[in-house]
Amino acid sequence: MQKKALITGITGQDGCYLAKFLLGKDYQVIGVVRPEGNSDLNGLKYLKILDDITLMRCDLLNQGDVFNLISKFYPDEIYNLSAQSSVGESFQNPYETINFNITSVLNLLETLRILSDKRIKFYQASSSEMYGKVPNLPVKENSVIHPLSPYAVSKATNHFTTINYREAFGIFSCCGILFNHESFLRSEKFFVKKVIRDSILIAHGKKNVLRVGNIDVKRDFGFGPKYIEAMWFMLQQNEPDDYIICSGRSVSLKEIIYWVFNYFSISKERLVIEDSLIRPNELFDMFGDNSKARKILGWNYNFDFFEVLNILIKEELENFHEADKCFL
Ligand code: NAP
Repeated sequence: MQKKALITGITGQDGCYLAKFLLGKDYQVIGVVRPEGNSDLNGLKYLKILDDITLMRCDLLNQGDVFNLISKFYPDEIYNLSAQSSVGESFQNPYETINFNITSVLNLLETLRILSDKRIKFYQASSSEMYGKVPNLPVKENSVIHPLSPYAVSKATNHFTTINYREAFGIFSCCGILFNHESFLRSEKFFVKKVIRDSILIAHGKKNVLRVGNIDVKRDFGFGPKYIEAMWFMLQQNEPDDYIICSGRSVSLKEIIYWVFNYFSISKERLVIEDSLIRPNELFDMFGDNSKARKILGWNYNFDFFEVLNILIKEELENFHEADKCFL
């Protein structure tokens, strides 16, 4: 029988790639969009899958709405990807971030508890940001959690809520603890996409400089379309568990900028460090250990991040030249 997957946050980077991946596995995909109907569907259009998905409006902050949606479809798998996902924005909008991120997860898990259908498997999008102030590297699943932003606080709460519903009520609920992952569909609010787009604009004489914050920090970056495969693997296991998904190596933001500048022959004088863009509580280095995911899920990841950067630059350029004329 055809499997059904329900994806919240389907219009985001991961939602789009996951929907495409699941359609390729012959799933019926139901995507949750905001009740106001103002969601950006461009990512789904870009991947040419908009017509293959059933889109449902639902207020994830409303328990009744969430219950009605899940009991209408009784999906085999639920992937909860929706969240206010920007660390920077969470400092500006802590109420919205914490309220939406925490309440939406609780509404989904409460629905599963009330329905008491142990067949439904639940995936929660946890984040490496939860670990924050890590005393030892690499970060492992059982590293101490010490969030440094409102976003990280919300994700840590979601993480423990998901584990609690698994332990207390026997729900098949897993957390994928993903480190930064990038793709063409990444929002421009995020560092790598911003560096690539601004560099293209500088190379075309449409922008003067790239403005950034602290670029000495190092992070573990990976390739988004490959990371979403691990979400599916988690829900195919016999037992629910939590897994770190990362590349296992960190690169500095400076190295990323220099790589992209070098690609476009942009002088380093075009780089401007702005104090206003430096985040509070910034951590110097962070990278994870993906050995549990490799061993138990059989998830394979061998990309070097500079190789990923080349893929991203190429895709951005193709779209810049062929379709996105208003980009300039
Ligand atoms: P994204 O591109 O920012 O997408 C977020 C999704 O959540 C969008 O579909 C957005 O819908 C939805 N959303 C946000 N606020 C909402 C609200 N108030 N009501 C309803 N929907 C709302 O995020 P992503 O990169 O795909 O990440 C997917 C998940 O993984 C997120 O939970 C994120 O926190 C987590 N994560 C991501 C990374 C990463 O590197 N990408 C790393 C670790 C964890 P609209 O399109 O309507 O705004």
